[in-house]
Amino acid sequence: MSLPDSMKPPLGFVFEEPEGRPFRITSIETEVDGPGGSDVIAKQFYTCGIVNSPYRQDYKYNPGTRHPHIGFFAYDGTVTGGELVLDRIDLTRQKHAEAVMEAHESLYKLEQDGKIQYNPNCGGHGHIDAGGYGFYDLVRFMILFGHLEEPIFRLAGAGKTYGHRTLYRGLDRPMPGRVYTNPIMKGPFGRIDETIASLARHPRHSGINTNFYTKNRCTGRCASATKVVERKNEYGETYSTWDHKTCTCKKEKFTIEWRVWNSQGNPRILYGWIALMQAMHAHAWHPVGKDYEKYENMDPYTWTWQPFSKLTAEAKRGIQERVEWLFTELPLTPVEKDAIRYAFMKTPYKTFGKDWFLRLADTPYKKPPYPNTYKKLISRPIEYGFKGAKEVNPNRRAEVPEQPPVPPEPEFWDEAEAFVEADIPQDPNVPPQNPFRIGPDGFAPRAPQAIRRPLRAREQENEILRMYREITNQFPRERDR
Ligand SMILES: [Zn+2]
Repeated sequence: MSLPDSMKPPLGFVFEEPEGRPFRITSIETEVDGPGGSDVIAKQFYTCGIVNSPYRQDYKYNPGTRHPHIGFFAYDGTVTGGELVLDRIDLTRQKHAEAVMEAHESLYKLEQDGKIQYNPNCGGHGHIDAGGYGFYDLVRFMILFGHLEEPIFRLAGAGKTYGHRTLYRGLDRPMPGRVYTNPIMKGPFGRIDETIASLARHPRHSGINTNFYTKNRCTGRCASATKVVERKNEYGETYSTWDHKTCTCKKEKFTIEWRVWNSQGNPRILYGWIALMQAMHAHAWHPVGKDYEKYENMDPYTWTWQPFSKLTAEAKRGIQERVEWLFTELPLTPVEKDAIRYAFMKTPYKTFGKDWFLRLADTPYKKPPYPNTYKKLISRPIEYGFKGAKEVNPNRRAEVPEQPPVPPEPEFWDEAEAFVEADIPQDPNVPPQNPFRIGPDGFAPRAPQAIRRPLRAREQENEILRMYREITNQFPRERDR
């Protein structure tokens, strides 16, 4: 039982490095439901040599920087199975690509055997290395994401009957009042200091999580002069923050996290997603120089938690323009465009037509505005497969002792029916509001003073909770347990 041909990604999951677009090291996290506590899942991954232990690891387990496996499998509180982390993968390397394919063969087998499920409570996260990424690059990237947000959220729901998981009825049950993936903060972005202050408090549960970036600090030790962005706080005191653009200090997990994706096991869709991430990060990057600090606001297209069928014809035309822009302006190779086309055809956007997508996918590669330079993280030598894993890990037991079967954990989603778009009564005249929209003064809420921080965070959380309740209360309620 191996992956069907239709699900196989191009080039065996290898990525090309087309002109101006070096591959940024990426980590992919796939959350699954299933009997995680019984180690059935971990054992399968271990047997194929893609993880280093036949047992599920604890939450926040970290195998270190040089471990020889492509990933690890760890506990995660929002799912019953756990989270497979494909760790710091360099997909220009054949071996990394092969190991990622091996992981997906494993996932497919587990799913076919009924051992795992990709339910709507399961998320897919991608961490992109932010090496050489300055604040201005980050701001350009956020503007770009906002411009394409609606198509990205649809793409993230590829292959699911209910689409993006924020559209799934009852999503608030395992995690009351918290949305997993909010729309991101929108501009127009004004002064850079205000913008950075806003991004520094951008909630983690957003399509893009900037916390790993903004919370990282330059130690000041790097020889290269890092740019200091200064701003005055409400009391007139000046404080400064570093622009990471030229900082070479050693940092922990210096990434930009994409939290928008659903969890799913089709590697051809995943290939399209990774391509889009690479292309958007490359497009937003500018070298140090006269254009580094320039950013132009683009018209955002906010994700409004609307089923596609509820959108007006005008809205759909607007979406088509964004999708066209995505295919023609972003630095994507033809094989990558084809993978993205394939994924879009597994969303309600398929009504735009197969031929329309084929034409878009057929457009040539367009290089990013500037040829990116990128100093890669140390690329780990990867081993996988039963034999490979045994060689690199002499302590590894040849056979995992059989364990007594553990009854499957109760499934939250057993009784939940697949979401049907038509089920949701929505007033087309009242678009849901984006809680992170920048205020009428042109800025997102100011960076909080230390003393105000907990209060502001609570306020924001309550706001999310209130909005989310409002939306989910429109769904037909399922029986309470
Ligand atoms: Zn530094």
